[in-house]
Amino acid sequence: MTAPADAAPATPHQPGRLVVISGPGGVGKGTVVAELARRRCDLEVSVSATTRPPRPGEHDGVDYHFLDNADFQARSAAGAFLEWAEFNGRCYGTLRQPVEAACARGRTVILEIEIQGARQVRQRRPDAVLVFVAPPSRDDLLARLRHRGDDPDSVARRLDLAEAELAHAEEFDHAIVNDDLARCVDELEHILDTVDAAD
Ligand code: 5GP
Repeated sequence: MTAPADAAPATPHQPGRLVVISGPGGVGKGTVVAELARRRCDLEVSVSATTRPPRPGEHDGVDYHFLDNADFQARSAAGAFLEWAEFNGRCYGTLRQPVEAACARGRTVILEIEIQGARQVRQRRPDAVLVFVAPPSRDDLLARLRHRGDDPDSVARRLDLAEAELAHAEEFDHAIVNDDLARCVDELEHILDTVDAAD
């Protein structure tokens, strides 16, 4: 079917922005991102792939794409990941295609990922905005990790990883403290608005 001669041309849009939200596991990045997405309908949150098993209540294709090791490695070898990293003995990665498709549609895409992955995004997409979410204190982070119901060994390992991750805050464009969810998301929105206004 051909378009009527007087049809308005499709409006070309700017490619969407890529925003990375990173920080130590257990800091509440997921909650911050969920609240941001609830407030802003112009955003898309990337669904990562992982080889870790689902936690109770998590759903395939919603919280993560849950893959076995062979599938993850095959996709990695095929260049399907924009970034990927091993964290606490499991693989996590961002699938390139859906992110690029959403950006091409002019959508702002949010990646909620750990720090090695954030570094890879910085190299591959220098235009990405990198935001570090920090806990108010180490005790607060420990309490959050325990609250998730992971086994004590995993909590201890994740706390060690978190200590190492905290040292990298200065590599990011912005750092925000998750002391209060609403305030933290206000700050994130302000960062997005400031970046948009600078375009
Ligand atoms: P969890 O197992 O608690 O869901 O996630 C563990 C860590 O992996 C968190 O810091 C989370 O942000 C990170 N993560 C989730 N998805 C990805 C991803 O696609 N890439 C990378 N590099 N990290 C991810």
